[in-house]
Amino acid sequence: MSGYKSDASILIIYTGGTIGMIENPITGALEAFNFQHLEEHVPELKKLGYAVSAIQFNPPMDSSDMGPDSWEKIVRVIADNYHVYDGFVVLHGTDTMAFTASALSFMLENLSKPVILTGSQLPIGMLRTDGKENLITAIEIAAAQENGLPLVPEVCIFFENDLMRGNRTSKSSADNFNAFRSYNYPTLAHAGITIKYDLSQIYRPLSRKPLKPHYLLDRNVAILKIFPGISPQVVESILNTPNLKGVVMETFGSGNAPSFDWLMDLLRDAVNRGIVIMNVTQCIAGGVEMHRYETGRKLLDVGVVSGYDSTTECAVAKMMFLFGQGMSQKEVKEHLNCSLIGEITIS
Ligand code: ASP
Repeated sequence: MSGYKSDASILIIYTGGTIGMIENPITGALEAFNFQHLEEHVPELKKLGYAVSAIQFNPPMDSSDMGPDSWEKIVRVIADNYHVYDGFVVLHGTDTMAFTASALSFMLENLSKPVILTGSQLPIGMLRTDGKENLITAIEIAAAQENGLPLVPEVCIFFENDLMRGNRTSKSSADNFNAFRSYNYPTLAHAGITIKYDLSQIYRPLSRKPLKPHYLLDRNVAILKIFPGISPQVVESILNTPNLKGVVMETFGSGNAPSFDWLMDLLRDAVNRGIVIMNVTQCIAGGVEMHRYETGRKLLDVGVVSGYDSTTECAVAKMMFLFGQGMSQKEVKEHLNCSLIGEITIS
């Protein structure tokens, strides 16, 4: 039987971002409200009938300022409260939400409860806000159960109408209400008059193991975006970054880069120095197939590894996570070749 656990307990973790803002009645300026008084601002929550508690970052952060330290903080809050709540809703600025969702999907190993990230394009205190609907639906999804088990035991982003696997999403619009897309994986649920779940697409843990939170991430990674006319100096400066361990290289189409000897020499040299170079496409949809064109094959020959259909956001988070585990170049490459938590499609 699928449905909502009427006495579900949900923890909201407000990290910052537009969603938690209201207009100061005196100055008119937007400021973060106190989530301890959440029900004053969103009285609709009472109608849900769940036990909703909230914790907030102090001070709330614009998500552009967030990174591994904040991801660690979120993981700690979830791990510390894991047995007390049925589900978690993380309120987050939209700008880097896809990075955070990707990182959390790796850091929360054996997750068996919903962790739903959401935010909004307009502050919750504004008349036309999308924040209330996003928040209320995210809570409903976090409370949804089937046969006494959570319906969506994974890290997701809910935005506008769609529930998406967190590590498959990208922010696709700076101003539309439907700001996120999952181009390479179907949506997990669509919220219209009712919320329709696509159960066949939702990740389910194979065995019930206790949550294993991970806190260590390695920041020694970089993004190298290839463009026509890119100079040896630009590539060199990135690949010679002190302590660099991993590079997410954004290439053209199905994983192609200019075939210049200087570029291949620089990439080969970096691989030989132990740096892992992962190839992801600049296209918004589709993935890398380095065998398809000569320009891609050359990358394979110098030791670049495929990122399959990974988003850049997920590729960065996965590299930080794998190196954070203290893995060697060989081990990281092996793990990039596997889908750890549904983040890539390997056919
Ligand atoms: N700059 C804000 C942030 O990402 C935008 C938002 O909340 O949507 O925190």
